[in-house]
Amino acid sequence: MSEGRGAAVVGSGPNGLAAAVTLARAGVPVTVFEAAETIGGGTRTEHVVQPGVLHDVCSAIHPMALATGFFRAFELERRVDFTVPEASYANPLDGAAGTRAAIAYRDLDRTVAELGRDGSAYARLYRPLLRRLEGVVDFALGGSMLRWPRDPAAALAVALRTAEQGSPAWNLRFREAAAPALVAGAAAHSIGRMPNLATAAVGSVLGALGHARGWPVPIGGSRSITDALAADLLAHGGRIETGHRISRMGELDGFRVKLFDTSARGLLHIGGSMLPAGYRRALGRFRFGDGASKVDFVLDGPVPWSDPRVAAAPTVHLGGTRAETAAAEREVARGRHPERPYVLLAQPSEFDPARNPAGVNAVWSYTHVPHGSDRDVAAAVMTQIERFAPGFRDRVIAHRVTTAAELSGYNANYVGGDFSAGAITMRQLLARPVASREPWRTPVEGLYLCSAATPPGPGVHGLSGWYAARAALRHEYGLPDPELGIAKPQNVAG
Ligand SMILES: Cc1cc2nc3c(=O)[nH]c(=O)nc-3n(C[C@H](O)[C@H](O)[C@H](O)COP(=O)(O)OP(=O)(O)OC[C@H]3O[C@@H](n4cnc5c(N)ncnc54)[C@H](O)[C@@H]3O)c2cc1C
Repeated sequence: MSEGRGAAVVGSGPNGLAAAVTLARAGVPVTVFEAAETIGGGTRTEHVVQPGVLHDVCSAIHPMALATGFFRAFELERRVDFTVPEASYANPLDGAAGTRAAIAYRDLDRTVAELGRDGSAYARLYRPLLRRLEGVVDFALGGSMLRWPRDPAAALAVALRTAEQGSPAWNLRFREAAAPALVAGAAAHSIGRMPNLATAAVGSVLGALGHARGWPVPIGGSRSITDALAADLLAHGGRIETGHRISRMGELDGFRVKLFDTSARGLLHIGGSMLPAGYRRALGRFRFGDGASKVDFVLDGPVPWSDPRVAAAPTVHLGGTRAETAAAEREVARGRHPERPYVLLAQPSEFDPARNPAGVNAVWSYTHVPHGSDRDVAAAVMTQIERFAPGFRDRVIAHRVTTAAELSGYNANYVGGDFSAGAITMRQLLARPVASREPWRTPVEGLYLCSAATPPGPGVHGLSGWYAARAALRHEYGLPDPELGIAKPQNVAG
């Protein structure tokens, strides 16, 4: 196949690299253009706070790395080592005698046993999803939401739970604080008022994954994942140009097919008048959501959790009760910074001790803030951590804040700090960024969008890139889906 029939991928996030690997494995010459000096988009691991201590800059925990289609086909588990802890996530709560946490173990029965009177209600929420996990994953992450699900019973199970947990009836099944807090902590990942259908759908799927394959931590940090993708791409003839921002479509004239791992707005700016007016309007309507502000810490020892069981969970949701988490998210939706914010904290050092020097604990956290916020949220975040881990402040050697506005500058896809590349609303889950059975394919021949602005949305899963590349192989090259595994024979360039 000549270079003129080759493909350009703009952006080297997990989706861009997944697209590039898929095309290269099919024998298509691929060049990836990355604006930053290093590859990886939301999966870089760097010395964020101080030299010699590695933090994940964006993603840290990978609920979708072992359970979803692209990475399974790519055999990620054979290329990157993961720790999959027994506990997926924890949600500390204030209690009469100190604080006590709700813990989501991979083992649903163990989780249920610790949830007291709400145990069986919690089990009824998740068990049907676990029984049909493949169908749940296919329904939620298997492509456009506008297609008929492969397992309608699984889709119905998700829909019923979404309808309940996304409505004012969300507390009816629960009598105590722990179980609903656990559910809310997972749902709040998607940023938005609660209860609402979109956050409930996200919570159902993330929760189910937590009770099935777990929420894994990659050894070496998130960059191990994109390094594995890049290695495979280069081994199959692909090229990567870092420090090369694409600003005009004309820069890609030599390529037959172009895939954009950019936001919808990024594609709109670069595509400009070559995009049909209707499509331009649709991209322009696709709106960004509220943002994230990060606070990374270097500690001189473990986080002094009041409830020591929290140390066993790589992810900790620090929002307090469900009502408090919902109140914090409501404040953000109103454009305010909550006094008691919902904080997501990851403590990978506990699970990947070789990542950093002995005795150094690299703690990662972020909180939700209004779109474009440039506020330093360190004090509010520290107070919330201290609430559930008294003495935390005394352990902090150094910290660094990355505001939502700074995240925007770090990665053009994260406009206003919205790392989902588009708000997670029901409308924008169905039309991401357009309502189509093939939303990756634009009306312009050979032009595709392959980022988190397309289904299934945010997260490190490579699925958007994989779906876009497979559509391009089918429509532009008449080629079937390639094998992506390690020991498979390479396809020969045609
Ligand atoms: C603070 C934070 C925490 C997160 N935590 C998690 C987590 O724990 N688990 C999880 O699964 N997900 C997490 N995410 C989300 C996850 O990182 C993203 O959903 C994911 O990286 C999206 O992948 P992508 O390939 O679509 O885009 P990105 O990873 O954003 O990559 C896009 C790339 O395109 C490049 N680019 C953009 N425009 C151009 C251009 N014009 N020319 C050239 N290059 C361009 C950018 O520089 C960037 O490298 C987090 C994100 C953030 C910010």
